[in-house]
Amino acid sequence: VIIAGGTDFYPARVGRPIDDDVVDITAVAELRRISEDTAGWRIPALTTWTDLIEAGLPPLFDGLIRAAREIGGVQIQNAATICGNLCNASPAADGVPGLLALDAGVELVSQTGSRRLSVADFVIGNRRTARRSDELVIALHVPRPRGAARSSFLKLGARRYLVISIAVVSAVVERDPAGAIEAVRIAVGACSEVPQRLHRLERELVARRSAHGLADAVADHHLEPLAPIDDIRGTAAYRRDAALTLVRRALAELEDPPA
Ligand SMILES: Cc1cc2nc3c(=O)[nH]c(=O)nc-3n(C[C@H](O)[C@H](O)[C@H](O)COP(=O)(O)OP(=O)(O)OC[C@H]3O[C@@H](n4cnc5c(N)ncnc54)[C@H](O)[C@@H]3O)c2cc1C
Repeated sequence: VIIAGGTDFYPARVGRPIDDDVVDITAVAELRRISEDTAGWRIPALTTWTDLIEAGLPPLFDGLIRAAREIGGVQIQNAATICGNLCNASPAADGVPGLLALDAGVELVSQTGSRRLSVADFVIGNRRTARRSDELVIALHVPRPRGAARSSFLKLGARRYLVISIAVVSAVVERDPAGAIEAVRIAVGACSEVPQRLHRLERELVARRSAHGLADAVADHHLEPLAPIDDIRGTAAYRRDAALTLVRRALAELEDPPA
């Protein structure tokens, strides 16, 4: 078992002896620094949420940075990694919708080679990923958008901070130089076994081209990919209603104000 920040690993083992074979990768300094080239950004495995907040990234990352500020408290953000959040594959992981909205890729290495998967192909179930047991996730890759891009993130929990999400939404809107919409990606977490993109809504918003009134275009049927459950944090109906509201609000933050 690989340990990065250990903030998911250790709480999951409270009350029982740790008998896993553990590989602690925290001393590998090369896995820490975010880098950038013409293709996009590389976020190595040990990048913490605090590293992300302090990296001086462009508005494309505003949503993921907002997620970072809401993950646990500062002590957690200082230790916990973005890759760990992804590899843990909790349905309510706050980082995963942001990575889906960024269209991020996952770089895996083993002694026999390396491969890349999209985040959508990497997370395959509740706490299940496509990572083989001999593989390490070495980095995440965020492609550079074609035009100007901004993103948003909204999380609903039973209280404001230090809470497991009831519903979580991240959205990215890319514009051409004239301000028309070129691409939209919206992902919802905590409302299905695996966080889901709302592809149908994305296609309809791109077809409109206009960045006015994005939130008004969102309807109940756009949430079709979601399959929320009843649990201690909320009912399925409440989750669905919350997701609808959060999607509208996330898009409202990215639309042009009324003329
Ligand atoms: C008090 C508290 C509050 C929290 N609040 C939030 C919250 O608000 N939102 C939220 O989403 N999460 C929250 N978490 C969960 C956790 O902090 C995050 O998911 C964090 O990002 C996990 O990162 P880590 O580096 O600590 O992962 P670790 O615990 O080190 O690892 C998590 C899992 O990923 C695997 N793994 C880690 N790195 C790799 C790698 N490079 N390659 C392959 N496998 C790997 C590990 O084997 C393990 O299975 C909280 C946790 C605590 C204790």
